[in-house]
Amino acid sequence: MTSYISTRGNYPPVSASAAIKVGMVPAGGLFVPDEIPVFTNSRIFALTECDYLSAAREVIAPFLDDFTADELSDCLKPAYGGSNFHHPLIAPLHSLTEKVHFLELWHGPTAAFKDLALQVMPFLLTRSAAKLSGQKEIIILVATSGDTGKAALEGFKNVPGTRIIVFYPYRKVSKIQELQMTTTDGDNTYVVAVKGNFDDCQSAVKEIFADQRFNRILADEGFELSSANSINWGRLVPQIVYYFWAYAGLLKKKIIAPGEKINFVVPTGNFGNILAGWYAQKMGLPIHKLLCASNKNKVLTDFFHTGFYDRNRKFWQTRSPSMDILISSNLERFLFEITGHDAEKITHWMKELAEKGSFRADKKLLGDSMIAGFADEEETLEAIREVFNSYNYLLDTHTAVGYKVYQDYCRKSGDNTVTVINATASPYKFAASVLEAIQGKECLQEKDEFAILRRLEELDKGSLHPGLQNLQQKPILHRTICEKGEIRGQIEKILLTGS
Ligand SMILES: *Cc1c(COP(=O)(O)O)cnc(C)c1O
Repeated sequence: MTSYISTRGNYPPVSASAAIKVGMVPAGGLFVPDEIPVFTNSRIFALTECDYLSAAREVIAPFLDDFTADELSDCLKPAYGGSNFHHPLIAPLHSLTEKVHFLELWHGPTAAFKDLALQVMPFLLTRSAAKLSGQKEIIILVATSGDTGKAALEGFKNVPGTRIIVFYPYRKVSKIQELQMTTTDGDNTYVVAVKGNFDDCQSAVKEIFADQRFNRILADEGFELSSANSINWGRLVPQIVYYFWAYAGLLKKKIIAPGEKINFVVPTGNFGNILAGWYAQKMGLPIHKLLCASNKNKVLTDFFHTGFYDRNRKFWQTRSPSMDILISSNLERFLFEITGHDAEKITHWMKELAEKGSFRADKKLLGDSMIAGFADEEETLEAIREVFNSYNYLLDTHTAVGYKVYQDYCRKSGDNTVTVINATASPYKFAASVLEAIQGKECLQEKDEFAILRRLEELDKGSLHPGLQNLQQKPILHRTICEKGEIRGQIEKILLTGS
């Protein structure tokens, strides 16, 4: 049986369902499986016969081995077996050239890759809680840089036994992202804008999880906190699936031979998506290189180049806001894995990070486990323009960062390996920046967000992502704005005074 252990060695090993229910280790630390299942090549090749739902079952089952096959199916079916995704393949490949393929992870209800995990995670969580005979109402706290918030709201809205409270940085998400969140209906959803940046939201939420006194007060009132951020293993494990899926897709199209290695490029913020890719590699998926792509907030690029992680730097607000992050939570899991589960070292580094904002890891330890690079704002726009002009294909700003980092890597390394770039959001979700890239800043003048969407639709000769339709007509249902010091107060207000 796989058990889940804390990256800081401060919690007894627990089952998968307990790890998912608790979310984050209460005293700080993240759950990881004590052992990583390994797939044989034939098991991987057999995925070419699967649809997404059954591929997900195959890949996830060994991690969630205290779920019966039926329980797992009950969780996966409503997510991947119905019409929540607007593409029959769930995550189709778009081939740009023989060598370069975009894995479109944005066909879900909220137009970003987070749907792949957050459509299923509420079921994993409520099922986990039920297995552990939990009686309490589960309160999901979410800190979002823009995309997680809406994806979590859609996943959890009206799920019995849960409430969800989302904190996003006020004026630091795109207009469309904001409207997606503030127009969410459902009788268990709360959305709060925080006057601060994403790190402020995430740090406050993490502190609240770790505050045992506060958790006891909530428990007395019948509430239990959990997390839908990628600090929760239940968020991470569904993301491993699409790495296998992409590989099987390339095999099926005969773009690669069985066993041939491929690269993945991952636009990165909190390090969740790329960590899922790293786990896929450890499970035996033939991956040559994983490319960790950052925007101007290039704390991870610097880290992988020097071994020194330093968040003491200017925070840039960029056109790829979902990657505007200086504290990448899942790096903790990665470091725990590559140090061979050295909880003492991790505890020390995370303490340094919390107290000084920096820590130094051994550069040798990192080796070439990840290739890291970044793109600045102009390079991001340039990538969108180039791909549209040459291939008539629209990239969103995050995916464009990945494309640029991939180009730099190819130029430097001469690596000719077949490469999959994770397309993490629909271009329509960041329409203003995409239009700016293609037609220049002037074309944005006097256009509101919806006129921009229409203009992009014309250029693309495509159609607006279904998840973004009718946004303009929807009433705004959430208007709370708070200071960054007031996050806890907001939670108290929502839960304890019922307002
Ligand atoms: C969340 C997000 C990212 C960053 O993913 P992480 O798992 O946080 O590294 C990149 N692009 C988009 C569009 C996102 O929504």
